[in-house]
Parts: sequence; C-alpha cells; structure tokens
Amino acid sequence: MKVEFVKKLALPDEIKKECPLSEKAVKTVADKKAEMEAIFRGDDNRKILIIGPCSADNEDSVIDYISRLIPLQEEVKEKILIVPRIYTNKPRTTGEGYKGMLHQPNPNEKSDLVKGIMATRHLHRRAIEETGFACADEMLYPENYQYLDDILAYVAVGARSVEDQQHRLTASGIEAPVGMKNPTSGDYAVMFNAIQAAQHPHTFIYRGWEVVSEGNPYAHAILRGSTNKHGENLPNYHYEDLIRLYEGYSKRELQNPAAIIDTNHSNSGKNPFEQVRIIREVLYSMKYNENVGDLVKGFMVESYIEDGCQKVGEGVYGKSITDPCLGWYKTEKLILQMADLLK
Ligand code: PEP
Ligand code: MN
Repeated sequence: MKVEFVKKLALPDEIKKECPLSEKAVKTVADKKAEMEAIFRGDDNRKILIIGPCSADNEDSVIDYISRLIPLQEEVKEKILIVPRIYTNKPRTTGEGYKGMLHQPNPNEKSDLVKGIMATRHLHRRAIEETGFACADEMLYPENYQYLDDILAYVAVGARSVEDQQHRLTASGIEAPVGMKNPTSGDYAVMFNAIQAAQHPHTFIYRGWEVVSEGNPYAHAILRGSTNKHGENLPNYHYEDLIRLYEGYSKRELQNPAAIIDTNHSNSGKNPFEQVRIIREVLYSMKYNENVGDLVKGFMVESYIEDGCQKVGEGVYGKSITDPCLGWYKTEKLILQMADLLK
C-alpha cells in the first residue's frame, strides 16, 4: 500500500479509561435510550426531535447550544423528546473540505486523528454530564463506533453510506436506535434493504475480530430528500412520499416501522428556514392519516446559534461551517410551535 502509517491509534478501551463516563451519565444514556425505544415501539406517543448543528465544530459553542435546549425540553416534555445532534464526522462528496471534529479538532488546523478521537469523546461526554441530554452522531466510519458506543443514544447512517455492507452489519450490533437514510438517489429499496440487514443477526469482521451480532430491532428510516440526474433537489416529506413509505413497510416484515423526517438537506434544498414549514406540513399529514401519524416518530433539524453558514476561518461563534442551519431564535419558536401542534 502506498500510504504512510503515521501514528498508531489508542484502542477504544484505552480511550474510555482516559475519558470515562460517570455513573450518572451511564444512567442518563440508558434512560434516554429506553425512552426513545418506547417511542419507536409505539408505547410512548411523544415524538423525537434530533436537533443541532450540521457539524459539531467547536466544543464551547456546541455545549452552549445544547444548554439552551434544557429549559425548552422541560417546557415541551409531554410532547417531545429532544436528542441533540453532535455530528463529529462529516461525509464529503468529493473528499474536500472540513471532515468534522474527528479529523480536525480545530477546523483551522490540519488533520490530527489521534487528537480528534479524544476531542469527539470529550465533547460527547461533556454534553451528557453538563446538560443531562443523551445525544446523536453519524456513524461515518463503522470501525470508530466503539470509541463512543457507551455514549451515543442515537446513530445515523448517512445517505452516502447506507448502501455499504460494513455500515449495515455494524448497525446490526448497535444497542441504540439506528436511522438509515434514503440514499442521495432517493431509492427507498436501498434504505429498506439497509434496515432489513441491520435488524438481523450477522457474523462479520470488526476491528480485527470475527464477531456475531444480534440484530437491531430499532433500525428505521430517515427521509432526507434526493437529487435527480440534473442535480435538482427532490423532497420526500410530502404526503404521497409518506404513504409510499408506509406501503413499503407494509410489504416487508420489519420490526418497529418508523420514520424520522430530516427537514434540511435535499428536503429543504439546504434552505434551513424551510424546515419550519416542512415540520408543519408533515405534522398536518400525520393528523390527516393515522397510519402516517404512527409511522413518523420525529424530525431531524439542522439548527445552531446563528442563522445560515460561513466559510471555515470566518470565525463567527455558533455559525455552521458546513450546511446552513436555523438560528437559535427561530429554533426556539419552532420547538414551541411543534409542541403546540402535537397537542
Ligand atoms: C448530515 O446529516 O449532515 C448529512 C450529511 O446528511 P446526509 O447523509 O443525508 O447528506
Ligand atoms: Mn448537514
């Protein structure tokens, strides 16, 4: 292989020893996971709101953002379970650009993966310990999942990864709800196949071991819209798309049929302000048709302190350096409005 082996990484157990979770945090993760699983089973009628910046680029502003969610969660607790988005791994279509905290603990400096692994764990740990939320991340590199497996309450498999065997097999061994996004082409079959694979037991190679998984009954769909051959965005949050998803689930023997609607990406055409309208529309479809209302378990919203996005290096505190986000003021209104509409 023509690569330079730069540094050997610490093992997950070593990283966990160096940055352990308190007993209280272990209980927070277990409790929140159980609440989420009850929602996915249909035993709890609340909806899930996975919300936060496109990329968790800075520990202080991410903790600041999540701390602002605490009083809101209290206010809407009868209707909504908030799960902060702390996405530390960013898929890049061409490989160019900011790849997340894992690669660059400081977005203005060059890659340092040894530091990055510790920085992601440190941020996730701080979020649980200081805010009492349990959080979500994207599993972009399955072999890295063990660095956070005791911390994450929700895992997403992205649109560019959902067709990949190792992601599917690893998801089958994850003890937390895993959302499988529709691929960028929009093909539901790819997403359903990923859910089916993740819900079943498998024998596979993981981190140098032959391992056996049990299957994950909480693997489910995330609709994020798609792009066509002209590069145009095609949303898939409309009523017909939700009915098509319901019918797709009805034809398959999958456990806990469920969908999370990603309101940004190709659903909003990356106009973050559309997210408010999209949630309203989906909530209307959920009221209009009970099957849709049961199937949709929640939303994934890209939100941060400031509206929009900036280039790396511009340095505006709390403003996304990847996809444009809804700012704090509008986010607060959105969450309260959503709780109201769920009454
Ligand atoms: C994201 O959630 O920021 C993301 C990259 O999503 P997707 O995989 O749907 O493009
Ligand atoms: Mn994004």
